[in-house]
Amino acid sequence: MLSWEQTPAETTTKEYTQIAQYDGYGGLCQRAWVEIDLTALTHNIKQLKNILSPQTELMAVVKADAYGHGAITVSQTALQAGASWLGVATIPEGIELREAGIEAPILLLGATHTPEQVKAIAHWHLQPTICTAKQALIFSEVLATLDRYLPVHAKLDTGMSRLGTPWQEATEFVQLIEHLPNLRLASVYSHLATADSPDRTIMLQQQQRFEQAIAQIKTSGVKPSSLHLANSAAALSHPNLHYDLVRVGLATYGLYPALHLQDVVNLKPVMQVKARVTQVKTITVGTGVSYGYQFIADRPTQIAVVGVGYADGIPRNLSNKMQALIRGRFVQQVGAVTMDQLMLDVTDIPDLEVGEVVTLLGKDGKYQITADDWAASLGTISWEIICGFKHRLPRVAVNY
Ligand SMILES: *Cc1c(COP(=O)(O)O)cnc(C)c1O
Repeated sequence: MLSWEQTPAETTTKEYTQIAQYDGYGGLCQRAWVEIDLTALTHNIKQLKNILSPQTELMAVVKADAYGHGAITVSQTALQAGASWLGVATIPEGIELREAGIEAPILLLGATHTPEQVKAIAHWHLQPTICTAKQALIFSEVLATLDRYLPVHAKLDTGMSRLGTPWQEATEFVQLIEHLPNLRLASVYSHLATADSPDRTIMLQQQQRFEQAIAQIKTSGVKPSSLHLANSAAALSHPNLHYDLVRVGLATYGLYPALHLQDVVNLKPVMQVKARVTQVKTITVGTGVSYGYQFIADRPTQIAVVGVGYADGIPRNLSNKMQALIRGRFVQQVGAVTMDQLMLDVTDIPDLEVGEVVTLLGKDGKYQITADDWAASLGTISWEIICGFKHRLPRVAVNY
């Protein structure tokens, strides 16, 4: 029998640990891990494909290491399930996928400017977003020296006030790209600021601006071969926001961008976070728990120490506000969440043993704890919660 300290699992891919090394599949003990349910991921992609017309393509947005899920495996699975594009934020994120042998088109959603970046983009066959005329000229110049051409995507700002040329100047901007010899206009796109709001006013205003810009671009003689506007929320909102491609992040991972969009498709959360009980003890009335004594026992209390903390992705601001699942039952977290460990009040499970599995995020029996539950307690969004699990915990691919 191996001790806790002896068990750094051998990784089978760069980002996923072999399931055989986990409890129930071979017995090696890990203090905490993230399960990525590839069956749920496939299910979500298929559900999303179902609401698209056959001509509309699905881009799986896999930036930030696939929102903490592992970009390579998620990309491979999403492509098999019916996605035909991948979206990343940065050049290194794109290179990681190319080095893994992924050949699907990859759109760089972020801005890039320098000659070195242009060379890397060309070398790795990534497709850049062009946000300004100046950027288009830099790309064209560098590509000419390489004797290369690149498909590029013209970004319009229709009201997000983030990347892109203002929609009123779209025609000049797109015409410039069209006429630069080393750039090929692959799409014109924009991004919505309020697609997750039940009030559709601003979203529809952005769409109207997009439509107006496209109409003027077409009148000027340029016919973009692809248009896209929708993120997850817009993809779930209405088919007339789909255009030729939808860029879906959050929904891919089985989370809904908003409550009012929950009935459109059936999504299953892909990520579960689990950890083990590492010690069980009973404390007396008046005893404080963890740094700062944010919790003081008001009854004889059985405490379980669990091997997961804020450095793993459990937000410290959830201290005393979160629950966990053990043996299919809710238990309350108590005291400050520390860097590598947290404590639970397990008084109601007197025979709890060291080594038992605790579900922090995910399902155990009848009950489930979701990233939305955490986000609601924290006043943030589920996107930020799942992105928090990209650093330390080993990932295990599962198929539930
Ligand atoms: C991140 C991102 C998306 C995906 O957004 P979700 O809300 O997660 O679906 C789509 N488009 C752009 C430009 C993005 O930056």
